[in-house]
Amino acid sequence: MSGKRPWKFATLCVHGKKHLDKHAAERPIRAVSTPIFQSSTFAFESAEQGAAIFAGTETGYFYTRLGNPTQTALETEMAYLENGQAALALASGMAAATTAVLTCCVAGDHVVSGDTLYGGTHQLFTHTLPKLGISVTEVDARDPQNFARAMTRKTRLVYVESPANPTLVLTDIAAVAKIARQAGAPLLVDNTFCTPYYQNPLDLGADIALHSATKYIGGHGDTVAGILVGSTEWIQKARFETVRDVGGIISPFNAWLLLRGLKTLPVRMDRHSENALEIANFLSYHPKVTDVIYPGLRTHSQHDLARRQQRGFGGMISFLVKGGREAGRVVMNNVELCTLAVSLGDVDTLIEHPATMTHSTYSEAELKKVGIDPAMVRLSVGLEDVDDIIADLRQALARI
Ligand SMILES: *Cc1c(COP(=O)(O)O)cnc(C)c1O
Repeated sequence: MSGKRPWKFATLCVHGKKHLDKHAAERPIRAVSTPIFQSSTFAFESAEQGAAIFAGTETGYFYTRLGNPTQTALETEMAYLENGQAALALASGMAAATTAVLTCCVAGDHVVSGDTLYGGTHQLFTHTLPKLGISVTEVDARDPQNFARAMTRKTRLVYVESPANPTLVLTDIAAVAKIARQAGAPLLVDNTFCTPYYQNPLDLGADIALHSATKYIGGHGDTVAGILVGSTEWIQKARFETVRDVGGIISPFNAWLLLRGLKTLPVRMDRHSENALEIANFLSYHPKVTDVIYPGLRTHSQHDLARRQQRGFGGMISFLVKGGREAGRVVMNNVELCTLAVSLGDVDTLIEHPATMTHSTYSEAELKKVGIDPAMVRLSVGLEDVDDIIADLRQALARI
């Protein structure tokens, strides 16, 4: 396997890099599933070795906040799947976002970001970072030149989500990467919606990929976790400077759940996407639906860009219903199969209202500016039989 990539993506998801098998072969343990190293600390062979590990002259596991074999197995695999040099697994997507910003910026620095972001990230940028003296300019991500215009001498990070939650606005990653590079700022792409199966930001020129692994990577609605992928140098800095001090590391058990999720990622993503396209088409022709936002539809304003930088369109759909917010409420209160819940990327189909739930951190004026209509309903299409999901939406829409 050294350096080359003889296996296709789905095979890599199932077999990983066989990281721990290397060690297992030396011992009478041949676990097919990566073991959960549920240990907070690791014994030193001698006082000298302990001192050397702490001094950084010798490597080795010593404390789970700074490394654990189950966590390493996940990080090794994620780095591989994202074509990055290294990865860092964290307790949540927000822990990943906070770690990334604190690794790049100090008081007085500046971040340029797309203006449509997950509500928690928007809150981090508008509420918490200003308290630390870090300023953020949010721009319309559809035009790369908006990023160029917002750069200052203090810009230390460019941060985008593509496709963005919940408007499914795309960023031309290659174009923005060029602009960021010219300004000397790293580009981070939140790749949660696509996963590495459909999009590899680093291949498009970005420096860091971020995942809320709570979503498609975990895939079963049972884990909260986050992942960063980047250069070895940057990940080392994030781990040994930022995470060492602020914590936020993933637990060995959650790392194991994500390793398990990765094994079926391509199969799940294919079905999420097939189902989503069929549902998007159904909604497009429904008389009670006024707009359907799905990058896989030719009517999506950035469909060509989606085709260019993604290998698939994913399972997220946003749509507007005739009758506005009140009508959307009727749909959400009358679904029987779909679950009224936030989060996304689960095996179950989830339905929610961005303006009052995931994106309630946006003010009314901000919602309007970034195009999160009060009537917008967000659907995370699950793995049920698509006929059943459509039948459920049809009966709920009929109640309007
Ligand atoms: C959910 C989400 C996050 C935050 O992740 P958590 O795991 O909930 O902390 C960040 N970005 C996107 C796009 C998300 O959907």
